[in-house]
Amino acid sequence: MSSDYHVLCVNHDPAIVVPDEWAHAYEAVEAVKDRRRDGPLREHQRCDLLIGRYSAALVEVCCPGGNHTAGRKRMHANEQWVDVDWLRLLYVAHRSADPLLAEAVEPLGDCWTPSRVSRLYLALGIAPDQAEARPDGTTQAAR
Ligand SMILES: [Zn+2]
Ligand SMILES: [Zn+2]
Repeated sequence: MSSDYHVLCVNHDPAIVVPDEWAHAYEAVEAVKDRRRDGPLREHQRCDLLIGRYSAALVEVCCPGGNHTAGRKRMHANEQWVDVDWLRLLYVAHRSADPLLAEAVEPLGDCWTPSRVSRLYLALGIAPDQAEARPDGTTQAAR
């Protein structure tokens, strides 16, 4: 089955899917890295952008690197792709009160921060009522 690629803007909550599509991953990556003022990403010149691979449904998400917003520790030159199932797990892990789970996903935090992942909830097919049930982070669940 063939794939196409869309750009996801995570400056918005929930993330916006830019309507233009690209036939190849490298074209979408190039569009994100070299945002032309007259191009399809003209409204997202300074936004935090990710790339989604769609094969009917969203199957993978890519952090194109190099455009992380200020304050993040590490940059990377090459694209990092992750499976949507993995992002759904991360979404749940970020909301868990279990410190072991939070620790387990911490190494992924450079690209897949709680704010990025939570803004992808619609794209990940997570129901809005689950998305609204966000823990406030100050209390631990009772056992
Ligand atoms: Zn934007
Ligand atoms: Zn990244």
